Amino acid sequence: MFAGFIREIDSVGRVVIPMQIRKELGLVEYGSKVELFSDGKQIIVKKAVNNCVFCKAESELIEFEGKFICASCLEKLKG
Ligand SMILES: [Zn+2]
Repeated sequence: MFAGFIREIDSVGRVVIPMQIRKELGLVEYGSKVELFSDGKQIIVKKAVNNCVFCKAESELIEFEGKFICASCLEKLKG
């Protein structure tokens, strides 16, 4: 776990996430996605997890037009 990194926000609002943290979370590939939350006092950056639009499963996903469906729900739709 890492904490206390201070980073500047650049002129267009970008912040670099330190490599140590990206490596720890498996966010080293270009295009890795994060999810941002704010409660008005703090910003929370979470590793984005793809999940099935129907049952929220995170495995055996098939992407279709930017959405994900799991193999099980796909079978149900077919039947
Ligand atoms: Zn599903």
